[in-house]
Amino acid sequence: MDRAPRTFVMTHDLRDRLGKPVAGHKYMHGHALILSGGAGKSGAARLAARGALRVGAGLVTLAVPAAALPEVAAQITAIMLRGLHDADDLAAILADARITALCLGPGLGVGDAEARHLGMVLSAARPTVLDADALTLLAHDAQLRRALHDGCVLTPHDGEFLRLFPECRDDLGHQDGRVAALRMAAARLGCTVVLKGPGTLLAGVDGRLWQHPVAADGAMAWLATAGSGDVLAGFMTGLLARGFPAEAAANLGVWLHGQAARRFGPGLIAEDLPEALPGVFRDLG
Ligand code: AMP
Ligand code: MG
Repeated sequence: MDRAPRTFVMTHDLRDRLGKPVAGHKYMHGHALILSGGAGKSGAARLAARGALRVGAGLVTLAVPAAALPEVAAQITAIMLRGLHDADDLAAILADARITALCLGPGLGVGDAEARHLGMVLSAARPTVLDADALTLLAHDAQLRRALHDGCVLTPHDGEFLRLFPECRDDLGHQDGRVAALRMAAARLGCTVVLKGPGTLLAGVDGRLWQHPVAADGAMAWLATAGSGDVLAGFMTGLLARGFPAEAAANLGVWLHGQAARRFGPGLIAEDLPEALPGVFRDLG
């Protein structure tokens, strides 16, 4: 069995599936729900929400604690907004079968309430991207880790990965070690895991491994900027909402993220990534 990672390349099939049917309507393209933390923390979740919209999710809702509604409402337009007073409000949202994908982590917070919300989201067993603070919550709670399922995509950078697997500290410094650590993580957690960095690696639930090469022109290095990972989580969530399976959504998200950086070029900040996507789509034809 070939255990080396395969290099991800964009295929005609995936490109065609990124397009939208001429006679489609927004309800055909899925509804992504992004859960955010309180006031002062909503920027990351707003980046994720905008990313989810730009990859073509039909609808995107940002759910925030009710106290943060005014702050968030002042800064969003096409994204819908829901205020959460308590866990019952979240339960009501999760009961809506039209929500086709969830994202938890960017700007979330790491308190007891957020851990409870994460448990509820995992119980909903919907396609779900877990990033940032959600990864910290998982690292601290074995019961939450056991609730992960094969519709989950985890997107740790090295620091987040090591919080989950501190025993891998010596492995992440070299490629063979990164591959081995990632394979172990995906098998242990039972979900798709994306180990971010220059040359992102990805492992699917069935043990398939993918490598995303670093562009020779250096443009992708501009992805090393605040909020970049939040947009990536949003891209993947939007693709999950549209119906792409976890591994394909994760691979496409990483690829589109890199292409958006290349198309925008030096000077890129996270806000630019969703806005660069239309150009990437145009180049795809
Ligand atoms: P985060 O640390 O969560 O904001 O995520 C950063 C994002 O930028 C990830 O998708 C990384 O893969 C990507 N990234 C960071 N540094 C580089 C780099 N030097 N070259 C290419 N991609 C990078
Ligand atoms: Mg991040």
